[in-house]
Amino acid sequence: NHEPVEVYHVSMLGAPGVGKAALVSQFKTSDCINAYEGAEADLGEQSISIILNGIESLLKFSTDNKENKDELEEADAYLVVYSVVDKSSFTRAEQILSYLQDKDLIRARPVILVANKIDLARSRAISAQDGKCLACTFRAKFIEVSVGINHNCDELLAGTLTQIRLKKEYN
Ligand code: GDP
Repeated sequence: NHEPVEVYHVSMLGAPGVGKAALVSQFKTSDCINAYEGAEADLGEQSISIILNGIESLLKFSTDNKENKDELEEADAYLVVYSVVDKSSFTRAEQILSYLQDKDLIRARPVILVANKIDLARSRAISAQDGKCLACTFRAKFIEVSVGINHNCDELLAGTLTQIRLKKEYN
């Protein structure tokens, strides 16, 4: 079977230190996927092959903050990440969502707002409700994860691909 594999670009956005690189590393260890580091890793892109519902897709993650519209347009999905222990990263996430909306990049592409580091419960500065409200404002999906204790990372990976496939179907 030599069906061509669909390749999707996922742009990870967010303040420095929120765990974007850590999240991609965690995705690679997911046992529901057929994970490998692609040849493009040297170019700052990291590829993960996933078989979901019997169909293989390749997700290419970029974690370098692309700030211009042309580069952002190349993405098939955005993961906007903040840390629940860093209030300024939440403000940054809000700015990024506003920017994506202003440039009309949200309508055709799934956006997932990702709250990371929920293992640091005693230092939490942003509640789940705050995150949900922000996501809702921009019609984004919302998920709370912890790369540190590998909580919800598989769900986020599968959810990202599911959202991309759904958007493609309806466009
Ligand atoms: P990036 O700049 O957004 O790519 O952030 P990194 O992936 O480099 O992570 C920044 C720091 O946060 C590193 O020291 C990670 O080990 C740490 N980190 C990432 N995710 C978590 C998490 O879920 N919990 C905790 N406690 N630390 C985390």
